[in-house]
Amino acid sequence: MTQFTVAVLPGDGIGPEVTAEAVRMLAAVGDLYGYRIATPEYLIGAAAVAREGEALPARTRDAVPDADAVLLGAVGDPALAGATGNRRPEAGLLALRKLLGAYANLRPVSVHPALREVSPLRAERLESVDLLIVRELTGGLYYGEPRSRNQGEAVNTLRYTANEIERVARVAFLAAQGRKRKVTSVDKANVLEVSQLWRETVSRIGGEYPDVTLEHLYVDFAAMRLISNPASFDVLLTENLFGDILSDEAGVLAGSLGLLPSASIGDGPGLFEPVHGSAPDIAGRGVANPIGAILSAAMLLRYGLVLPEAADAIERAVAAVLNGGGRTPDIANPGEPTLGTQEIGERIARFVRSDLAVQLAGR
Ligand code: NAD
Repeated sequence: MTQFTVAVLPGDGIGPEVTAEAVRMLAAVGDLYGYRIATPEYLIGAAAVAREGEALPARTRDAVPDADAVLLGAVGDPALAGATGNRRPEAGLLALRKLLGAYANLRPVSVHPALREVSPLRAERLESVDLLIVRELTGGLYYGEPRSRNQGEAVNTLRYTANEIERVARVAFLAAQGRKRKVTSVDKANVLEVSQLWRETVSRIGGEYPDVTLEHLYVDFAAMRLISNPASFDVLLTENLFGDILSDEAGVLAGSLGLLPSASIGDGPGLFEPVHGSAPDIAGRGVANPIGAILSAAMLLRYGLVLPEAADAIERAVAAVLNGGGRTPDIANPGEPTLGTQEIGERIARFVRSDLAVQLAGR
């Protein structure tokens, strides 16, 4: 029996609620395809600060590099808003990304036909929206040194090396080769030297992929085009800060942050997590949308464990449940009946099992 280990880091707020549903999917596909996916849990974020005094404790740091993949819920707790250093929940996540060498963050955004009405954009503008944001994740302003804060002055540093740009650019071009063969690189080269290096480097790497069309956009224009013509994007490649902002903007297209998965890949095991945060406003009520976490489990199976059939089965099951009217409150029209986190997870898992049963019976 093929055996995999997925380190599960539920984290804070709705993190444990949505992660439980993602783990349910791993169990469902594991049972039916006959491989065993162990899912040991480790602490991160505010939950780790409460128990171990730091956001990424030693037991978690020691375990994750040996896993085949890492599944994360979310970190963040308003009670720790004033925390500093490694007691800040978000510092745990930044340290985890660095530890795993996860330099490329992949965020697919598409709009499920049954949910076009939930998006704030007009339905016709959302037709054929299918984009992939590739965001550089371990460099740039979030990590640059020096950084400091005094009473009347604060400093952050934006620095990229050509090598950091090259490796994430390659991920974007390779991804585009399996899609619509277009990369839009986003920068601010009219103002920033770092962006000039970014643009030159991406153009040079683009020369190695002559079958992929490359265009460059300034970040301000890209932000506008994501709303005015989102279907014009295939792969959107950008640096850490711009990617953070643009990927949340793109998330609005789908109708809810709760729907969107992500994969962060690089030198070590991949890190798979929904794009949303710990949502303290709805935590503990069993109403969070687990689909972003469930689709992150599908990305984990596809890119982390290289089990594309199992990933397809989960994605088909999510589509089937949405087509059948399954809705958590964030994606329901007013007055529409809604399901809780666990109910929708159970419904998706049932579809996974029956889909696979059909396939296996056909063999
Ligand atoms: P958030 O993503 O947690 O929530 C934004 C809004 O979206 C809220 O109204 C929330 O209820 C809603 N929402 C998010 N996920 C949902 C889901 N699955 N189902 C239904 N509704 C959902 O962002 P925020 O409120 O800005 O941040 C809250 C905390 O999360 C902060 O501490 C922040 O630092 C942290 N955060 C963590 C991550 C991460 O772990 N990767 C990402 C973003 C924010």
